This record gives sequence, structure tokens and C-alpha cells, in this order.
Amino acid sequence: MPFPLGHTAIGLAAFETAHKSNSCSSRLYLFATITVLANLPDVDILFGLLVSGNGSAFHRGPTHSLLFAVVAGYLVSWVSRRWHRLPNMSFGLCTVLIFSHVVADLFLTTAPVSIFWPLEVHWTVGHSSWSDVLGMAIFQSLQDVVIAAVVALYLIVLRQVRRGACIYEAIIFAFAKRRID
Ligand SMILES: [Zn+2]
Repeated sequence: MPFPLGHTAIGLAAFETAHKSNSCSSRLYLFATITVLANLPDVDILFGLLVSGNGSAFHRGPTHSLLFAVVAGYLVSWVSRRWHRLPNMSFGLCTVLIFSHVVADLFLTTAPVSIFWPLEVHWTVGHSSWSDVLGMAIFQSLQDVVIAAVVALYLIVLRQVRRGACIYEAIIFAFAKRRID
């Protein structure tokens, strides 16, 4: 299953794809916000650990749904417009970043997610203690390294394509200007 690094990398890819220009002043705050949003659905693991000592108790339920992505996306976007320490993020962008987590879990793991909750719910079975969760998040992230490498490659290609498009646009513009002059 993708862990924080993998979800963050996928979130960065979703961000770069959906958000061409960046008007945010702080890249660090932006990166932190993307990391939190891309991992937000897994807050149910923390909730399970705090409530029952079992990280699997409420895992992959309501927080792994389209409805959660829309509602949480709206709330985060609303807060980001009022709290100026946060980068100003649109509702659509926040929703895409949160939902990227659910999609990654859906396609990169064998266990189901509750994508159409409350019409369906698929809780994770089993038991995960604090040490299990921390151990998995820190040490079993080989798949995440592959995901991060694929995303890094994707971002390099995306930036090159966009830079190429800009250069092409500039050439066309200069050519058209010369013909008018
Ligand atoms: Zn998850």
C-alpha cells in the first residue's frame, strides 16, 4: 500500500498537473499543505489508534470516499482563503489532492476503499498497533520509492513539455508580430 511518501508524491503530481502557475509566496508551506492533503484520508488510522489502540478499526471507511474529498476540500479551501499562512488553494484543487489518495489506494492496493460512502463501506480487517503503523510507514516504503521516482520523472517531462510549449508560443508570437510590423 502507498505510505506517506507515495501519497505525497502522487499529490505533487496531481498538483503540478492541475495547477499550472504558482502564485504562492512560500514553497515550504505549499509543500506542507500538499503533504497534509494527500495523506488526509489516513487520519482514520490515527483516529483508530487514539480511540481503540487499533489503527485498522476505522480504516478505509468514510475518509476514503468521494464525499469526504469534496467536503474536506471545501473546508480546507475556505480556511486557506482566510488564514494567510496557508497557500490560497481553490476548492477543486484541494478536492483533487485529497481524492488522489483514494484513487492511489484504489489502484495500487488489493484492499477496497469506500469510494461511494455512505452507499458502501469497506472497513479494513485486522489489527494495527502504534508500532505496526510506525514500522510500516518508516520501513516498508519500497513501493513508495518507486512511486516517487516515477512521479519525479513525470514532473520533469511535464515541465519540459510546458517549457517547450512556451518557447513554441513565443516563436509563433514573434513571427506573427513581424508579419504585422
Ligand atoms: Zn489510505
